[in-house]
Amino acid sequence: MHNPVLQVESLNTAFSSDGEWLNVVRDLSFSIGPKETLALVGESGSGKSVTAMSVMRLLDEKQARYSGKIQFGGQDLLSLNARQMQSIRGNRIGMIFQEPMTSLNPVLKIGVQITEVLKRHRGMDDATARAEAVRLLEKVRIPAATSRLNEYPLSFSGGMRQRVVIAIALACNPRLLIADEPTTALDVTIQAQILALIKSLQEEEGMSVLFITHDMGVVAEVADRTLVMHRGEAVEQASTREIFHLPQHAYTRALLSAVP
Ligand code: ADP
Ligand code: MG
Repeated sequence: MHNPVLQVESLNTAFSSDGEWLNVVRDLSFSIGPKETLALVGESGSGKSVTAMSVMRLLDEKQARYSGKIQFGGQDLLSLNARQMQSIRGNRIGMIFQEPMTSLNPVLKIGVQITEVLKRHRGMDDATARAEAVRLLEKVRIPAATSRLNEYPLSFSGGMRQRVVIAIALACNPRLLIADEPTTALDVTIQAQILALIKSLQEEEGMSVLFITHDMGVVAEVADRTLVMHRGEAVEQASTREIFHLPQHAYTRALLSAVP
């Protein structure tokens, strides 16, 4: 692939347990091209979230150990120190999780939470940041955006909260969005809306997306390419079309048989 946005090479992530290191992600390699969506799919416990946390270096490094390479923006993220990593995380990679409140502070108005990111990472002054916050909320299709800046996260519905989280992720102008089961906690009708939103934002913003899900139905909706994970390893990766029409691995076929 020419100039991938993210290139993970032979990633191993291990956790220490009773003095031993247990590998949870094993020899995992994948890359994501510009404007591409790669789905990471597999059953619960297969190592999808640990992979995402490894890319962002969000695991506690007293308990977790990495090897391999994670190339992003011309650097190997595994070689960066904590301060350098902090700036990458806030700047060029956005992340959204299953539970929106993971990313939101319940006691801060959402306007404050969005403008903080804009001031810290994009150097905006107060007035500019406020205007940009409105623009971002409109971008994620939150009605009456201006008036909602003064509300707290808990006054939003689950789907609206996830939209706010997406707006915050976009605030750092990401080249890469990592979405870890972003619709799993939502009602089915709301899930479809959030998927459609992520797809259209990806086109508008030209971002690359690492989309983590256990649901092949969601994979079919969003992904250009798909990597199937099982017990910490990649069992298969191909275009989503090939994964659905010519699955090579028994585990992939088992996942597909669960799709209604
Ligand atoms: P998935 O997201 O695919 O459901 P995870 O990546 O969360 O799975 O977990 C993969 C495996 O790693 C699981 O067996 C889980 O118990 C283990 N694991 C996750 N986080 C930790 C941790 N902080 N310490 C030890 N083991 C962990
Ligand atoms: Mg997970």
